[in-house]
Amino acid sequence: MPISKSQFATLKQAAVDASRQAWCPYSNFPVGAALLTTDGQIFAGCNVENASYGLTVCAERNAIGQAISAGCREFTTLLIFTATNKPTTPCGACRQVVTEFAPDIEVISVCDGPENIRASMRDLLPQSFGPHNLDEAPKPGQTSGLED
Ligand SMILES: [Zn+2]
Repeated sequence: MPISKSQFATLKQAAVDASRQAWCPYSNFPVGAALLTTDGQIFAGCNVENASYGLTVCAERNAIGQAISAGCREFTTLLIFTATNKPTTPCGACRQVVTEFAPDIEVISVCDGPENIRASMRDLLPQSFGPHNLDEAPKPGQTSGLED
């Protein structure tokens, strides 16, 4: 179900506020993400870069971490703010991490410009890998089917 105008405004403000806390001295690309839970809570995150670039964590994954740490597991909307002229959708790693918890979440990307992108996570990450794939793995004591 789409969020209300007031929920959108609240989520956007949370994402903008989070983006102002971003630690991004290497990319100069601040990002804020705000995650809406099914019971109306909002958890925000910003990107946190590192001099060892590969250790950088995106805003979306930090928002998920905040929510999971607070015991929340069900989400309806993820809003991403970038201080750019065009909106930015989540990177592949974030799509995977968000899909773990909310494969049907609505993702809204907003920016300083007038354009928004609204998409479902299933559209952003079709045929995703998930827990259902692990169910296909052989159980201890079973053969994998690779043996002759
Ligand atoms: Zn990411």
